[in-house]
Amino acid sequence: QQKQLAGTKSAEAITACGVPIELQGNIELPQDVPDMQDFGARSVGLFRSEFLFLASEELPTEDEQFEAYREVAVALNGQPVTIRTLDIGTDKLPKWFERSGGLNPAMGLCGVRLSLAQPHLFQTQLRALLRASAFGCIQIMFPLLSSVAQVRQCLQHVTLAKQSLRDEGIAFDEQVKMGGMVEIPAAALNVAGFLGLLDFVSVGTNDLVQYTLGVDRGDDSVAHLYNPAHPAVLQLLSHTIRTANALGKPVSVCGEMAGDPRFTRLLLGFGLRRFSMHPASLLAVKQVVRQSSLAELTAQTDAILACTDEEQVTPLLEQLNA
Ligand code: PEP
Ligand code: MG
Repeated sequence: QQKQLAGTKSAEAITACGVPIELQGNIELPQDVPDMQDFGARSVGLFRSEFLFLASEELPTEDEQFEAYREVAVALNGQPVTIRTLDIGTDKLPKWFERSGGLNPAMGLCGVRLSLAQPHLFQTQLRALLRASAFGCIQIMFPLLSSVAQVRQCLQHVTLAKQSLRDEGIAFDEQVKMGGMVEIPAAALNVAGFLGLLDFVSVGTNDLVQYTLGVDRGDDSVAHLYNPAHPAVLQLLSHTIRTANALGKPVSVCGEMAGDPRFTRLLLGFGLRRFSMHPASLLAVKQVVRQSSLAELTAQTDAILACTDEEQVTPLLEQLNA
């Protein structure tokens, strides 16, 4: 099987019926880029910027962030890199960060909420991102959105950061694209509202599963309840993809589901054409893509979407992948 996968490396990510599928890499630090390119990904669908913040004792400065973002943009040679703004969650806590209270951290000041609550921190990162946009194709993405009002606030912060750079005569890409993550059911259900303001969305299934099912993604005692194939999760995913496609706006999945070959056909059937994943998963997913004919999938994926009982999903998913 390893040999077969190696053969897939140089092959295009294209379905058996000839539809090109975009397979992107998730990275945590600039030094992940060469490995990612080795696995055949040309663009980055998710750069988890918080790892820059986790790596140091102090908050990284604007210049330090700029250097890291520019390094990735340059290494990608004009291909896009989607950089997510700081996403501190329950699973990722930097040394400089002191959690101020909050009984339930996953419901508290995490994701974009922290950036909006700390304008100085947010401006520093946005300025660094915009400065780096002069050196390649950078897209900015906001994590853990739950309301359109938050999107509006994020975009106001971008406008401010752009103005401060203009005032200082510093170059940046005026057209840099802005996207949001769909990780909370409210964002999935209201994705049309989000796309009224944003250029693209990406579904973070790791958190979408957590928040839809009310299951802490890091708690072993409830791990058996953490089920990406739960009908409610599938309905939210399908709704998000379908809505974005109907609006003609790019949509991707960048959570673990995108890199799990058991879900590749299901996501293709839902209309997904852009997957971003850990680079090590790329070949296995590409192999499934190359063996799939879209027209043959939809009847089966529609049947899975119609399931109301998670136990019905399992055998249908097995059939789909057989
Ligand atoms: C997700 O939630 O699916 C995601 C991609 O973000 P993270 O895993 O970094 O929270
Ligand atoms: Mg997430």
